[in-house]
Amino acid sequence: MSNNANSPPGKSDGEEQNKSPVPPNPIESLASRIGDLDVNSIRRCLVEKLGLEPTEASTSVEKVLDDVSLDGIVKWIKSVRCQNIITMSGAGISTSAGIPDFRSPETGLYHNLQKYNLPEPQAIFEINFFRQNPQPFYTLAKELFPGNFKPTISHYFIRLLHEKGILLRHYTQNIDTLERVAGIPEDKIVEAHGTFYTSHCLECRKQYPLEFIKEHIFADEIPICADCPGVVKPDIVFFGESLPERFQECLQQDFHKCDMLIIMGSSLEVQPFASLIDMVPEWTPRLLINREKTGVRSSSLLGILRHFGLMDGGLKLDENSYRDVARLGDCDDGCQDLADRLGWGDELREMVKREHEKLDLAGVVTSPHPPTPSDPQPGPESPHKL
Ligand SMILES: [Zn+2]
Repeated sequence: MSNNANSPPGKSDGEEQNKSPVPPNPIESLASRIGDLDVNSIRRCLVEKLGLEPTEASTSVEKVLDDVSLDGIVKWIKSVRCQNIITMSGAGISTSAGIPDFRSPETGLYHNLQKYNLPEPQAIFEINFFRQNPQPFYTLAKELFPGNFKPTISHYFIRLLHEKGILLRHYTQNIDTLERVAGIPEDKIVEAHGTFYTSHCLECRKQYPLEFIKEHIFADEIPICADCPGVVKPDIVFFGESLPERFQECLQQDFHKCDMLIIMGSSLEVQPFASLIDMVPEWTPRLLINREKTGVRSSSLLGILRHFGLMDGGLKLDENSYRDVARLGDCDDGCQDLADRLGWGDELREMVKREHEKLDLAGVVTSPHPPTPSDPQPGPESPHKL
């Protein structure tokens, strides 16, 4: 059967029309009409058109939080049922270490790159551009080289969860290796956007350690492979490259087992990382520790679809929340607050002190290249992030 001009959107099969009294794609046809209706009219309309009863997810799903609050979360974490916590983090857990957002044109870090006449700041992280001209990337990398920064309270809080035996895995968008520096075991970390920790030759794929790259970067040289003329590139994921295989493997293993999700310092704007929050079971409590509410998909259509159980997605941080809690404010303050409430506050403070002293002895500098925020560069409104 072929479409004809009178078919409503989504209709492509006459047989299907006969079988079903509702248009095959009622959501789309409704979408254009819901703009100025109030929620109750939309609800009635959807129930009529789709033959649905409003089914709140919360009515059929076990509520494991006695109280949808930080204290409710604390009680859950301390219960025996909570054994598999997944933490997810973004740039927000590293900013107090002095690491500016690597990719943001507003940080002033791009100032030094003007001489390269980049087509746009993000070109630094595009694999095709890098192949032609790796110099701008290495200039920026020198300013931000891992090993020059100390992990934050937030990083050590994740390690504490591991030491308590309840960390299933930590997923990070960051490439600064601070999770490793904090002493979280490698097998507990998934670096979704790759890492500086290892590098590979773009041509023959020979692997190189952090030290190799570091020597070259600080000598203002482009690291070249010892076995071939290929350029050696840190294993961070550039635009145009796929995410690490480990990311895919681990998320299949982990998320269905997750009984507590803690999201820290992430804008949850970058896919596919952002959609991970929807991969945990429907009853799993989710705690957001961040400066502002993120991950709330509030577009009217999505909100309505979710209300009727037709589509799930995003955090639900309103009065109807049965499992999602936000602790707004500084990420380190949030982690310390959570640790205090769990009765682990002093343990966390002592760990941070002890580990920072160790790093000081090892000669780690806190912030050798402070960012120069007085020189914002023009750029797109929402800077891409790796
Ligand atoms: Zn090579």
